[in-house]
Amino acid sequence: MGIMTKRVLLARPRGYCAGVDRAVETVERALELYGAPIYVRKQIVHNKHVVQTLERKGAIFVEENDEVPEGATVIFSAHGVAPEVHEQARQRNLHAIDATCPLVTKVHQEARRYARDEYDILLIGHEGHEEVVGTSGEAPEHVTLVDGPDSVDQVEVRDPSKVVWLSQTTLSVDETLETVDRLKAKFPGLQSPPSDDICYATQNRQQVVKQIAPDCDVLLVIGSRNSSNSVRLREVALEAGARASYLIDFASEIDDGWLTGASTVGLTSGASVPEDLIEQALGHLAARGYADVEEITTVQERQTFALPREIKRDLAARNT
Ligand code: SF4
Repeated sequence: MGIMTKRVLLARPRGYCAGVDRAVETVERALELYGAPIYVRKQIVHNKHVVQTLERKGAIFVEENDEVPEGATVIFSAHGVAPEVHEQARQRNLHAIDATCPLVTKVHQEARRYARDEYDILLIGHEGHEEVVGTSGEAPEHVTLVDGPDSVDQVEVRDPSKVVWLSQTTLSVDETLETVDRLKAKFPGLQSPPSDDICYATQNRQQVVKQIAPDCDVLLVIGSRNSSNSVRLREVALEAGARASYLIDFASEIDDGWLTGASTVGLTSGASVPEDLIEQALGHLAARGYADVEEITTVQERQTFALPREIKRDLAARNT
């Protein structure tokens, strides 16, 4: 009987996107500049390990502004906030720093513009997700949430000749196309956003997973359960032909049973996942015979975002 070859296909791009990198660095710099504690409204990014690490450094995570002492520093997460959250912060005299990803801000601007022009906005996204709450909050009376292809039937608009779709940044590309097709069948005058709302990082991570999935007996996605883009990666893996796929926060959650009979193990991570969690997973797999690692790269990412204005200003002032 031959010995089964064991290998890992490591997806690239994976892990941190430019928006997450910026948001995490915003909290780190704020801790340096203003000292602990720094309050953060909601999880800065949807990753357990990142949140725990920042907590140890002195960040305090809260759900709402009213949990932040008057006058303290509060950081808004990468997922964005509704305008009323900025207003509450002003009323409580908070020193607010906005770490909303610029690609989420772009969708907020689109929502404001179409609302001003009296459009009905069909926002494709997951009900209750923080980003959707924030974007809807820009124009609540104009926005209708469309949570996937199956909810298209219930959608009503005021004027079918003035309707546009926008989306959450971290959806499945293919499922969103399906939702849009169904919406177009119902509203032939439906307009599309001026550019993709699903961000480059979400698209790139899905693209490489699609490429490796057919070769994978099992494809492991590192990411937290409340991370939309990570959850989508597991779904994309299964749709694209991975025999099995699991979403895990930490390498220690890898069940040896998942690897039984598996020759090729795929590995990737969501946009909020630091690279050390991938290193740990590779170490865990190597200890079980999967030491041969091939990295499959579909595209080189070069996107970066400047830190929020107030952080840049205060860093510059400190350094002079
Ligand atoms: S996943 Fe996309 S939209 Fe979200 S923070 Fe990263 S780059 Fe920004």
